[in-house]
Amino acid sequence: MNVTWAAVGAVLGLLAGGALKATVFRLSVAPGEPERTACPHCDAPMRRRLAVRCAQCGRSLGTPLALELTMAAVLALLLGRFGGQPDVVAFGFFGVLGVALAAIDIATQRLPDPLTLPAYPILIALLAVAALASHDFAALGRALLGGLALAGAYLVLALVRPGQLGGGDIKLAGIAGLALGWLGWPALIAGAVLAFVLSALVSLALIAARRITLRSAICFGPFLVGGTLLAMLTSGH
Ligand SMILES: [Zn+2]
Repeated sequence: MNVTWAAVGAVLGLLAGGALKATVFRLSVAPGEPERTACPHCDAPMRRRLAVRCAQCGRSLGTPLALELTMAAVLALLLGRFGGQPDVVAFGFFGVLGVALAAIDIATQRLPDPLTLPAYPILIALLAVAALASHDFAALGRALLGGLALAGAYLVLALVRPGQLGGGDIKLAGIAGLALGWLGWPALIAGAVLAFVLSALVSLALIAARRITLRSAICFGPFLVGGTLLAMLTSGH
């Protein structure tokens, strides 16, 4: 862990969290509903794309600092681990996107297309630049295969157990597969397994605390992101 890079990551994470706060708020709506454009407290229209609080009543959009501090922690860990490497931008991008998607999934049980779909060309471009810089085109090929493999595996799971995983999970799995495939097949498998382990542990804890029952469906995005990040940080790449 490189402390200087970690500090840079923490600062960038705070900035990214603030910059994405309004986007996360806007997209945190039930499936099929229009994007949120008004403050939930005072109904004032939200005009600015970059905002952390309502201009009218001054209340925070969502839990104050939660998004900022989570992104700061995630980017501190990612930059502390990958800082100075050509692939650090791609992993940082995944970290920021993943936290934003997890926040929306926790709030509304969905992973919106306006965030997941553009992430494919962006992440592939960032990995292609990293491949050019490191002359590692095998890793780029593995990333593309990894994305296909993980999205395919989630598609099969969604078909076998309808209602547990949705289209958003499949799209996010493809993005996670791109990043994990770049690091290697062991990282891809570790990320896939860790997502289900984390999900099972949290489900058991929630059942024990009587917050959910065995039949409840809990959102999977945060576990997919968490498992992917854990596999990235512990990979031997
Ligand atoms: Zn307001």
